[in-house]
Formats: sequence, C-alpha cells, structure tokens
Amino acid sequence: MRIGQGFDVHAFTDGDSVTLGGVTITHTQALLAHSDGDVLLHALMDALLGALALGDIGQHFPDSDPRFAGADSRQLLREVATLIEQHGYRLANADMTIVAEQPKIVPHSNAMREHIATDLGVPTCVVSIKATTSEKLGFVGRGEGIAALASVLLEPNGRTNCA
Ligand code: MG
Repeated sequence: MRIGQGFDVHAFTDGDSVTLGGVTITHTQALLAHSDGDVLLHALMDALLGALALGDIGQHFPDSDPRFAGADSRQLLREVATLIEQHGYRLANADMTIVAEQPKIVPHSNAMREHIATDLGVPTCVVSIKATTSEKLGFVGRGEGIAALASVLLEPNGRTNCA
C-alpha cells in the first residue's frame, strides 16, 4: 500500500462564491487562483500524486499553461484518477481537513464527498471531509484565505506495475 499527504492554501479575493470539493458555495469573497481555486481538491490531488511519488499538481497541471486557466479541478482529479489506475492502484481511503473561518463547510461536506468518490470511482464511505477554524489565529484566522490538508491510502488494484 502507499500513503500520501497534501496541503494547499488559497487567498481570498473579490467575488461571490468559493468552490470546494467541486461544490460552489455562495460567499462574500472568492479564492484567488489560476484554476477554480478548489483548495480541497488541490490538497487531495497532491496527496494522491505523492502516494505514487509522481510529483505534484504544479508539475502535472502548471499555472503557466493556458490550458489550465480557470480549470475545473474535478476534471484534473479525474485525470489523476486515471494515473492511479494506470499505476495499478485504487484509493483505499482519503481523509481531508478544511481550515477556514468562513464559509460554513459542514452543510456542504456530503456533496463534496460524493463528488470526490464519483471522480475517483470509489464508495462515498471511504472519503472523509472534516472542517475546523483556526481560532482567529494566523492568516486563516484573519480571514485572508482557506487551507486544506489531505491524507490518502492507495491499495493495489490487482494490476500493479510500479517499477
Ligand atoms: Mg492550489
């Protein structure tokens, strides 16, 4: 089995919604990013790529490539899912934490879990999303942005071909 971890941060900017786990949540600000700024899916993809020692999303989907301007992070996640399958693995489970003062995450977390499970071809019960605030401390606490952490475990899918 292979374990991976990922971390990402995006700053708030002017706007009216944020996208987390593929769910668009109405908010008083947006997240600044080259893509859709889905900090949760970015942390998850880094964890998945890390488990396979395949680098990070910056290498696979560079900011400098216009193909990824405004990119739907769920589409990128499905590309990562294909890589996982090609390398002979499947997701055993994923556990993620969103660190934000606002917006409220819990009302949306099941929808996020379902998106992620669909994109990775696994049951929703192996996808966990938790949320916490930063107790008003640091950049998250000052409401300057949102952070996300992800841990994943991959198991062989019976077609392991990792050299
Ligand atoms: Mg990011």
